[in-house]
Amino acid sequence: MTRAREVIVVGGGLIGSLVAFTLRRAGADVLVLDADRPGAAWRAAAGLLTPDGERLRGTPLHADALEGLRRWPALAAALERSGVPVHLRPGVTRVQPGGGVACTPGEGSLHPPSVVRAARQGLEVVAAHVQSLGPSGGGVRVRTDAGDWFAGQVVLAAGAWSGAFGVGVGPQQGQALLLRGAPGVGARYGPPARGFSRYALSRPDGLYVGATSRDTWATTPDAHAARWLRGAARTLVADADGAEVAAHLVGLRPVTPNGLPLVGLHPTLPGVLVAAGHGRHGALLAPVTAARVLALAERGVSA
Ligand SMILES: Cc1cc2nc3c(=O)[nH]c(=O)nc-3n(C[C@H](O)[C@H](O)[C@H](O)COP(=O)(O)OP(=O)(O)OC[C@H]3O[C@@H](n4cnc5c(N)ncnc54)[C@H](O)[C@@H]3O)c2cc1C
Repeated sequence: MTRAREVIVVGGGLIGSLVAFTLRRAGADVLVLDADRPGAAWRAAAGLLTPDGERLRGTPLHADALEGLRRWPALAAALERSGVPVHLRPGVTRVQPGGGVACTPGEGSLHPPSVVRAARQGLEVVAAHVQSLGPSGGGVRVRTDAGDWFAGQVVLAAGAWSGAFGVGVGPQQGQALLLRGAPGVGARYGPPARGFSRYALSRPDGLYVGATSRDTWATTPDAHAARWLRGAARTLVADADGAEVAAHLVGLRPVTPNGLPLVGLHPTLPGVLVAAGHGRHGALLAPVTAARVLALAERGVSA
């Protein structure tokens, strides 16, 4: 038997769950299918909302990054009506190359796993691995390992795995440590080392220290990254040395060849919208992407 829904979102990560939350609030009948992939980026993400920390000034992403910052407080308030706090906090400092410290008003951080948990409250989320999408009777057939669905519209938000559905997205691995027993600190960037950003922030689950960057599908933590991250912790937080590792996180950032997210019509599949390829900035850009997908879906754009 094929089950029918108005909208099916493929992937319930940072982008998919916030897109589904936004569509649902606008009255759509939405189902989220999530494969619970090891390496999902949202489980490993720091949650920094910092256009300047990420050096986005002068890039094509800067305007959207500022718009993301502007939209986060209202979105966080809406998410928290679920009863799940998302820990949106103001303030990120950056150590400058000359040694001074800078802070851009409006920047901040949140806790990505809580964001996903809050967004998923009130949504129907089914554990299913989507295998293929294809046209069917004016809509889309969604083939999964848990049976088939039929949807008027599909939103493809499968993170780094979106490339399996005919769009140019691949993985960039990032590793980070969560330390227990370290002193609490506000979100801060140190000077980059070997081309990687080094940052730390206290979160409800510990002191987060990130992050490495490597083009690979591997999702197992490695000792080399652990040593580099320990070094970053020492540089960024006095007295972090004795802290115990609560978790060594590995996530696959969904990246595109030109570094820009893909948000719009699927190039070949009618009825499918793409919301993927947000790279290092999915938490920051998610409110803007969700608003764009809502606008497209409301226009009934299908081809
Ligand atoms: C170490 C690290 C630190 C980061 N720090 C930040 C930060 O500070 N600020 C920021 O803005 N961004 C940060 N990011 C980036 C951010 O995590 C990503 O941009 C964001 O998670 C992308 O969201 P997504 O929903 O596209 O992908 P994901 O979060 O990876 O979610 C994709 C979902 O799709 C599901 N899925 C995959 N394939 C299928 C399938 N075939 N069928 C069904 N479901 C499927 C997966 O199970 C997963 O839940 C960081 C990432 C990493 C790895």
